[in-house]
Amino acid sequence: PAFRMSGRRLTEVAHAALAAVLADGARAIDATVGNGHDTLFLASRVGPGGRVIGFDVQPRAIDAAAARLGAAGVGKVVTLHHAGHEQMLTRIPAEWCGTVAAITFNLGYLPGGDKSWVTQPASTVDALQQAASVLRRGGLLSVMVYHGHPGAAAEARAVAEWITGLDATYRVTCHRSPGPTLYLVERLL
Ligand code: SAH
Repeated sequence: PAFRMSGRRLTEVAHAALAAVLADGARAIDATVGNGHDTLFLASRVGPGGRVIGFDVQPRAIDAAAARLGAAGVGKVVTLHHAGHEQMLTRIPAEWCGTVAAITFNLGYLPGGDKSWVTQPASTVDALQQAASVLRRGGLLSVMVYHGHPGAAAEARAVAEWITGLDATYRVTCHRSPGPTLYLVERLL
């Protein structure tokens, strides 16, 4: 229960920070769609003139998210790719580079889903690098890292190393909890 509570609290921290950079008409990316909760949040903040692109490798996640977005009436502003987030630069329009206001990563596996679709250190870091490169100045990258599952430690280490290696173009805020860790990466320049 403490794990869930702190996870929920950190999700609120992330959403508040993302809301501050998401205006009507903005572009956003959900790098780990899962059940589509973050995708829906992004879509509702960018409004009918905005665009959201989502990625997930798990068919079940794409289907669940598409249903959720459709039911909420925001399906038209969202494009879901059944592809890994490490394909980001090949899947988003070229003109999005340097214009994206917000990008979310929610790592680990989908609760209740197939745990074999867990995010992996190498592709996660590859995707984070691509995400950082497409952010606009003032844009925000939100990365939720989980610690409990098999393979979690290696991924958490890889993400921490990547964060540490960021140059002064970015400013990082780290929120730790008994459960997940949240990194908020702001593009300054
Ligand atoms: N751990 C979170 C949920 C994470 S969901 C929680 O407890 O709330 C993570 C999602 O990432 C899953 O739906 C999984 O299918 C997806 N995923 C795994 N590898 C991926 C990749 N390379 N690209 C995009 N999504 C991926």
